[in-house]
Amino acid sequence: MSRYAEPIARLIEELKKLPGVGAKSAQRFAFHILRSSDEDAAALAEAVRGLKASLRLCSICNNVTDVDPCAYCTSPTRNQRLVCVVEEPSNIAAVERTRGYLGVYHVLHGTLSPMHGVGPDQLRTGTLVARVERGEVDEIIVATSPTLEGEATANWLAGALRAFDVRITRIATGVPAGSDIEYADEVSMARAMDGRREL
Ligand SMILES: [Zn+2]
Repeated sequence: MSRYAEPIARLIEELKKLPGVGAKSAQRFAFHILRSSDEDAAALAEAVRGLKASLRLCSICNNVTDVDPCAYCTSPTRNQRLVCVVEEPSNIAAVERTRGYLGVYHVLHGTLSPMHGVGPDQLRTGTLVARVERGEVDEIIVATSPTLEGEATANWLAGALRAFDVRITRIATGVPAGSDIEYADEVSMARAMDGRREL
């Protein structure tokens, strides 16, 4: 039997599923929410619920957005012919922090991982290939992480798009090998973009 009343135990169980949240933190958060006002607790619940209800994927680039197409894909000040390919929507923030990138994005929602049964079919590449086929893209910068999976994904993508008239580049290793680009500081990320090489 749980030491806590069922509603508290249930919230603790859910909070423990968050990255970096252990049993102690989950308890702290749960009791903080219990002590907070009805309004604050309702606002938190509504924010969580609204996240799933109002967000969707951009039909062009797969970024998470509340308007489709997303703000990047409709921006008149961004170069729509320069596409940076990232693994996850959260990686866009790492590239944006450089403040030097003025192209658009394509989000794969994963990387190739034969060990975990993730093949090319599981990656969201369809709309990117279609854009390239229509001649709408001059350069694709593959900004997947410099991990085994990220490199395998970059090489696969370069092979799949080789037949088309598009420049394919890979970010330099300004991002430490084996790390996730999400945690790259803006100087490393800017260097990685500047030092990109042909794939
Ligand atoms: Zn978009």
